[in-house]
Amino acid sequence: MNTADFSLRHIGPRTADQKQMLETIGVDSMEQLIHETIPDGIRLTSELDLDAPMSEQDYLLHIYDLSKKNKVFKTYIGLGYHPTIMPAVIQRNILENPGWYTAYTPYQAEIAQGRLEALLNFQTMITDLTGMEIANASLLDESTAAAEAMSLLFSVRERDQKKAGINKFFVSEHCLPQTISLLQTRANPIGIELVIGQDDNFDFSKDFFGALLQYPGKHGQVTDVKSFIEKANASQIKVAVAADIMSLVKLEAPGKFGADVVVGTTQRFGIPMGYGGPHAAYFATKEAYKRDIPGRIIGVTKDANGNRALRMALQTREQHIKRDKATSNICTAQVLLAVMAGMYAVYHGPKGLEFIASAIHNKAVTLSNTLQNLGFEQINTSFFDTLCFKADAKKIKAEAEAKKMNFYYPNDNEVVLSINEPTTLEQLNKIVSVFAKSVGKDSIEISKISETNAIDKQLERQTTFLQEPVFNSHHSETELMRYIKQLERKDLALNHSMISLGSCTMKLNAAAEMLPLSWFKWGKIHPFVPAQQAKGYHAVLKALEDQLTEITGFAGTSLQPNSGAQGEFAGLMVIKAYHESRGDHHRNICIIPSSAHGTNPASAVMAGMKVIVTKSTEKGNIDVDDLREKAELHKDNLSALMVTYPSTHGVYESAIKEITQIIHDNGGQVYMDGANMNAQVGLTNPGNIGADVCHLNLHKTFAIPHGGGGPGVGPICVAKQLVPFLPGNPLVKTGGDQAITAISAAPFGSSLACLISYGYIKMLGASGLKKSTEMAILNANYIKKRLEGAFETLYSGERGRAAHEMIIDCRPFKAHGIEVVDIAKRLMDYGFHAPTVSFPVAGTMMIEPTESESKQEMDRFCDAMISIKHEIDNISKDNENNLLKNAPHTMAMITDDEWLLPYTRQQAAFPLDYVRDNKFWPSVRRVDDAYGDRNLVCTCAPIEAYMEEV
Ligand SMILES: *Cc1c(COP(=O)(O)O)cnc(C)c1O
Repeated sequence: MNTADFSLRHIGPRTADQKQMLETIGVDSMEQLIHETIPDGIRLTSELDLDAPMSEQDYLLHIYDLSKKNKVFKTYIGLGYHPTIMPAVIQRNILENPGWYTAYTPYQAEIAQGRLEALLNFQTMITDLTGMEIANASLLDESTAAAEAMSLLFSVRERDQKKAGINKFFVSEHCLPQTISLLQTRANPIGIELVIGQDDNFDFSKDFFGALLQYPGKHGQVTDVKSFIEKANASQIKVAVAADIMSLVKLEAPGKFGADVVVGTTQRFGIPMGYGGPHAAYFATKEAYKRDIPGRIIGVTKDANGNRALRMALQTREQHIKRDKATSNICTAQVLLAVMAGMYAVYHGPKGLEFIASAIHNKAVTLSNTLQNLGFEQINTSFFDTLCFKADAKKIKAEAEAKKMNFYYPNDNEVVLSINEPTTLEQLNKIVSVFAKSVGKDSIEISKISETNAIDKQLERQTTFLQEPVFNSHHSETELMRYIKQLERKDLALNHSMISLGSCTMKLNAAAEMLPLSWFKWGKIHPFVPAQQAKGYHAVLKALEDQLTEITGFAGTSLQPNSGAQGEFAGLMVIKAYHESRGDHHRNICIIPSSAHGTNPASAVMAGMKVIVTKSTEKGNIDVDDLREKAELHKDNLSALMVTYPSTHGVYESAIKEITQIIHDNGGQVYMDGANMNAQVGLTNPGNIGADVCHLNLHKTFAIPHGGGGPGVGPICVAKQLVPFLPGNPLVKTGGDQAITAISAAPFGSSLACLISYGYIKMLGASGLKKSTEMAILNANYIKKRLEGAFETLYSGERGRAAHEMIIDCRPFKAHGIEVVDIAKRLMDYGFHAPTVSFPVAGTMMIEPTESESKQEMDRFCDAMISIKHEIDNISKDNENNLLKNAPHTMAMITDDEWLLPYTRQQAAFPLDYVRDNKFWPSVRRVDDAYGDRNLVCTCAPIEAYMEEV
């Protein structure tokens, strides 16, 4: 074996296995299989034009060399991003631990209690610090969270406000520039009018339904949110506050003043800046708005034995159920980052956070006093960590950069500085010397940090926080390490067994792709540093854009969207801008097939489009006649078609070129949902099938780990006519020359995570990528064949083949009283995570093994499925007391002295031989979703609850 060939590590089946698998399927060669799978008319005729594949060793040297092109200055820019100290125990045991980063979104709650608990901690931390009643388990970044707050307040406008057409939203000019840009993107299409102004002289007119404040403001002034909220409430104006999480340790919680929503980022809690992300944003609101909250909420419920268990709550709000009526399009969020930020609070506890926040504040006060002694005027009258000085910005900038420091310069006469956790006394003195030199004075030496307070008394924090036991128990490294391990052991991730999630492509996240994420020269770069300091990033991001443009067969790429759903919204907004540039302001119809993912219709509505659903044929394909009819009917207003390819049914529709042509003939653009790109790379591409734009889920196809529900990266790739409209950023030049406003807070989205996909493509090269696609198709067809007779595949291509995934029909088992979820839960007893359940067809499972799974692992999975089928055959409909309905079985059940079930303990817990060697124990019995939704609890129990029990 050529040990320098990364594809041999990335791809599961060995050469000998591949031969056997092809035989099982009944084809002579891989070429024959691909020929029978992909329609001839869309195959690529040449290899992708990419760099030759690199060995892991060479890649690590290469990415190390590139990292050296980034210049790590001491950075005081602020604006929503700060240097931090990530506790090493969190870095090693979470960020660098596949037990955490390879987990899937916790839909199968019984084998996800660890990360569900970590996320409940996160929610509790947020509700405590913000003073709100309920919080979600993360959004994509602060600016999108602010936009979600605006949307929520818009949709909960009181009925008479709605009737009166009240649609104005006030945005304080203290808000971050990237947030204002993003609000513009999101407001226009849904009919919200933004008014940007000073909060001091806002007139609280009845024309406004809501307002957004920044706390503290972008230049550091702690605005009087208390009086603003009081006045706003008196005028029926609802208020959202974008609050800095660290400052909330010292500042009174906005919830105490009556805020309706509080949002922000948790990057400051130990997460590296990573040139813009990924970081978890938070969203907290009142209980009354619980059904309008975007994103995922973790809630407490009970299991089949009445024991406490956690699961995702209120899912009926979400896009996968509500589609075009959903509260938002959020699907992938920032789970891994939320877990880490929550763990930072667990590690430090309230006293540690108080120490850190006070130290930041004291350093800021000391610097402010010293510079004032030097004769500089500091404008902020009440501040936490950020100072705004009157000074000659040009001179200071030159001095500061010479000393390897970055400040923020809003104009020629002001210099803004944000103090952070790692700032030292020595660094404060360096800052002072820069200011002194700029006016030709001698520096003043700071020898001691002052402890005076510069926060307005009215706004000083009085409310306690993080009193729950979990935040007061794990403060030594040994304790935290064990707590993290205890949670990890409850979760099934890719380091235990295959997670064959249809549409989600849970492939290998190679260690060599992940390692650079821990390196300082990638982590410690602020997204708004001058370009010369981020040359390493620019090299990687530009190369990744080019790689993705080549792979999709398009003309340009934007890496800005930080999830697939965000990519959809971005792509549709780009299409809208294109139509408008041609005077077609009225084009607002978006045709979406009924089998589409829920994010598609939800994104179309956010983009101000009207959704028209087209039918599927009995074979699961798009009904071309119905599509043509609808496209022609709406040809004057047609904006776009959203289509997934291969379809969510796991089929390469051969009519795809005809379909894209129909849309073009009627004046529309074609948006391809690229979630299934793993079935295309190197064999065909969106450009080839006639699409105009697609998003890619780098966290599916391009090896970014799922993280338990994020981070994601959802770049859009576009054809030539759409390149000018790729999204921009107000502070850093990016995007097209007629760029739409921001889609994400950071100019290049979650840059740090982009390293993974870059490495993936670099190490596989054109040949390895193509081979991976072929192997993904081979693996899927192998499973399809092996399950034949036990589970029937619902849809196949014209020549009888599946694509890279297939839907198996579980509806016939209803005759035995068995539902698809019973099979999903029973798989846990066999040590497997279920495939996708009931998407896109209710009562089915969608299996996607990916190229990374070996034949042995797929055989174990198929053996488990077939064994479950035998179990079903022996079940009678009238008796619910059976192996499937009781699944999953916990260790507590199996080891109980009493055993009254009508099958043996062996059958329950060790149904096949292989299970014995690698048993995974679900930590709770089946969870009760309905109970939890009726009795919603979304935070850890306070200490009093524990005291009562005692
Ligand atoms: C995953 C997925 C999406 C949404 O992507 P996110 O990154 O989760 O927002 C959209 N469409 C399809 C078909 C998907 O599988």
